[in-house]
Amino acid sequence: MRIVCKACQYTSEIHKQTIEKELEKLKKGTIPMADDALYEKRLKACSDCKHLDISGTCMMCGCYVMLRAALKNNKCPEKHW
Ligand code: SF4
Repeated sequence: MRIVCKACQYTSEIHKQTIEKELEKLKKGTIPMADDALYEKRLKACSDCKHLDISGTCMMCGCYVMLRAALKNNKCPEKHW
């Protein structure tokens, strides 16, 4: 699952590259990552959430949810996951 910016639909290369580059950096790092099933479950919750803005940012914490949800030990500020 991908949460695509509803404003640019990731036609903005800068937006797309920012998310993808950061995800790649996280995967190469030492911070535990959520497995695919957990990641998908979290993104599904975010995609249904009223706090997700059109750019894929959580308005409660200010994070891009595709990045926040990728880290295993992160939590949703509203306890949705
Ligand atoms: S409040 Fe939680 S579920 Fe909603 S967008 Fe933010 S992180 Fe996702």
